Amino acid sequence: MIPADTPIWLAFLVAGAAMAVMVALRYFMASGLFAWMTRLVRPGLYSGQNQQISMEIRYSLIAALIYGAPAGAVFWLWNHHGFSLLYTDWGAYPLWYLPVSVFLYLFAQDSWFYWSHRAMHRYPVLFKLAHSVHHKSRPPTAWTAMSFHPLESLSGALLVPILVFVVPIHLAMLGLVLGIATIMGVVNHMGWEVLPSRFVHSTLGRWVISASHHEKHHEDYGCNFGLYFRFWDRVCGTDRGFSQRLVPDHPSAQVGV
Ligand SMILES: [Zn+2]
Ligand SMILES: [Zn+2]
Repeated sequence: MIPADTPIWLAFLVAGAAMAVMVALRYFMASGLFAWMTRLVRPGLYSGQNQQISMEIRYSLIAALIYGAPAGAVFWLWNHHGFSLLYTDWGAYPLWYLPVSVFLYLFAQDSWFYWSHRAMHRYPVLFKLAHSVHHKSRPPTAWTAMSFHPLESLSGALLVPILVFVVPIHLAMLGLVLGIATIMGVVNHMGWEVLPSRFVHSTLGRWVISASHHEKHHEDYGCNFGLYFRFWDRVCGTDRGFSQRLVPDHPSAQVGV
């Protein structure tokens, strides 16, 4: 614990570094777990990709620092000064607000990601500068989840620390949001579909992003820009369904059906 009278710059430094270590550990645990599962379920899927995986881990560790620093600073401000709309009292808001807050955070992250991601593909200068690193993973692996250029990491790192000052959320629900972000980030890059085909082709599956949907983005580039939901892709006509390599087409998988 950091004493309350610690100079603010030192508190930010210590809290930011501690949070960066936690984000890095979370990355190693989640990506490591699904990479291990991949070895069991799809032996040899990542063979010949050791050099790519080393690059992905290097960029992901830099991303952990960039994600952790502002998150640690905001957490310290909340913990020691009560700043932000984070809360721990289950009675502070009605119970129905708990899932609503989770959805609001996911939707805000998804919207920011969709439009910034689409812009990076639309403007070659932005793509080259900030996003080409992520697409150096060909094909992506369970270690690609946080493999971003520092500029792209920065654009994703600031949203949640800003949101906690705007949209109230229980600390446990924020943990759930970050858990969903971590698991979906890894699962959607790992190169095989973990979800049952029946779910992927279900009504809900046609609105939620899965590995076979994001893989299509890594194959074709100019489509499937979303993070969690297919909402913006479907509304804006950029949804091109699934990667045939991961999930064979299904009549009901067509957009708009
Ligand atoms: Zn990706
Ligand atoms: Zn992209």
